[in-house]
Amino acid sequence: MNKAAQDLPREMLRELVEAIQDSEGVDYSPRMGGVCPVCGAARCRVTNTGAWTGQVRMRNHRCRICGLRFKSVEVDG
Ligand SMILES: [Zn+2]
Repeated sequence: MNKAAQDLPREMLRELVEAIQDSEGVDYSPRMGGVCPVCGAARCRVTNTGAWTGQVRMRNHRCRICGLRFKSVEVDG
């Protein structure tokens, strides 16, 4: 976690986490996997892999460093 994030008041950090969890999700990369949007950890554990919807597939992740649950989006091609 970078210094700016550590300086955030707890309330703002919680709002940030809720915004992340409500969002479409971070980009999924075959090489880096799901990258935690809060602490930047790569290849976060996949807790659920969705089916392909058109050229898009969602995954759910849980960060092993900070514990954040977040979604990623893989786009084919
Ligand atoms: Zn994290």
